[in-house]
Amino acid sequence: MTTNELLQYDRDHIWHPYTSTINPLPVYPVACAEGVTITLMDGTRLIDGMSSWWAAVHGYNHPVLNAAARAQLEKMSHVMFGGFTHEPAVELAARLLPLLPPSMDKVFFADSGSVAIEVAMKMAIQYWQSGGRPRKHKFATIQSGYHGDTWHAMSVCDPVTGMHGLFSGSLPVQYFLPQPSVRFHEPWDERAIEPLCDLLEKHADDIAALILEPIVQGAGGMYFYSPQYLVRARELCDLYGVLLIFDEIATGFGRTGKLFAWEHAGVEPDIMCVGKALTGGYMTLSATITTQPIADQICSGEAGCFMHGPTFMGNPLACAIASASISLLLASPWQEKVKRIERQLRQELAPASELPGVAEVRVLGAIGVVEMKRPVDMAVLQRRFVEEGIWVRPFGKLVYLMPPFVITSEELTRLTTGLLHVLSDQSHG
Ligand code: PMP
Repeated sequence: MTTNELLQYDRDHIWHPYTSTINPLPVYPVACAEGVTITLMDGTRLIDGMSSWWAAVHGYNHPVLNAAARAQLEKMSHVMFGGFTHEPAVELAARLLPLLPPSMDKVFFADSGSVAIEVAMKMAIQYWQSGGRPRKHKFATIQSGYHGDTWHAMSVCDPVTGMHGLFSGSLPVQYFLPQPSVRFHEPWDERAIEPLCDLLEKHADDIAALILEPIVQGAGGMYFYSPQYLVRARELCDLYGVLLIFDEIATGFGRTGKLFAWEHAGVEPDIMCVGKALTGGYMTLSATITTQPIADQICSGEAGCFMHGPTFMGNPLACAIASASISLLLASPWQEKVKRIERQLRQELAPASELPGVAEVRVLGAIGVVEMKRPVDMAVLQRRFVEEGIWVRPFGKLVYLMPPFVITSEELTRLTTGLLHVLSDQSHG
């Protein structure tokens, strides 16, 4: 197949994320990727600014992760998890648990981030059912969040960007709180927690859990909020008998400067979800983790077990790569790397705030965000970024960088320079 034939077939038959089949946005055919370089089929080399949506923290084609995959392939790529267990799953759980909040004890391996969220929400429902409180079946969350595209995950995504209107009537209706008004570096203001206080006072009887992306809201708005919000949310959830779920699918594995974002606040959730960078971006795998008392209550109910068991649960290939990825991360000076990326992003993106089209520039950990005043033309910007030799995928008003941690300062400068170049053309053109 020539590249043109490949692109034509793709256009005729294959759906891409959030893409029209009538008038699809262009896609760029990738031949291979190594380190932070993605090479297109025509030989164009792009420096990766996205880590393939928060996942590829070690860059691409990493020899250690390749070796882990090969070694596991020689033994088995998959075997069902019902009735069997295996070293890759046990080793991964044993590697993961010591890194999580101390109360986390029971690991459920799932296929993707969205499924991990479904699992967390089902755990919360079954927990209350087993506890004789079946009316507690709704969820509370904050606006501008994103938790995935499956049914109940979608119900706790921001109602506007998640297009709840489109699915109204069939999508469960949840409780939405305003986005925490105090930002990450700002002094705490108790008024920021009042909406949660009011909601729980009135509706705790039918709320199973509060679900949050701790500290960093990702795809819903790339917004960084005060750790004190989590501290107060934990206190209120305890007071009113509501479970607290942390979605660390995007924030996990060092991206915010801590290994997991809950560490910024030091408060533990009741249920936690991880995914994305769990396998260093090699394969799809996620996990939902909870405490022993919660697991025990779930299993003491009518069903006698937790009602979920996907075909590819605990996939050995993905688990083996995940273990290797975690070891690789922990053996590297990842804190220094993230700090260096943070410093450099702060310095090199600062000039963007002078551009007329830019509303705000913000940086936390290895995440740099340029929020524009108006939504960008994705097709035009994407093409311009490719012309600059960088891979940046904006959405809405947000143009952002979250590069693999292995990026060198020279490569990062090429990313920020290319980004500024394109945005200043846009602002002036
Ligand atoms: N939660 C968060 C915070 C996410 O960023 C995402 C993915 N962008 C998900 C859940 C869903 O993960 P997946 O796309 O693997 O289903």
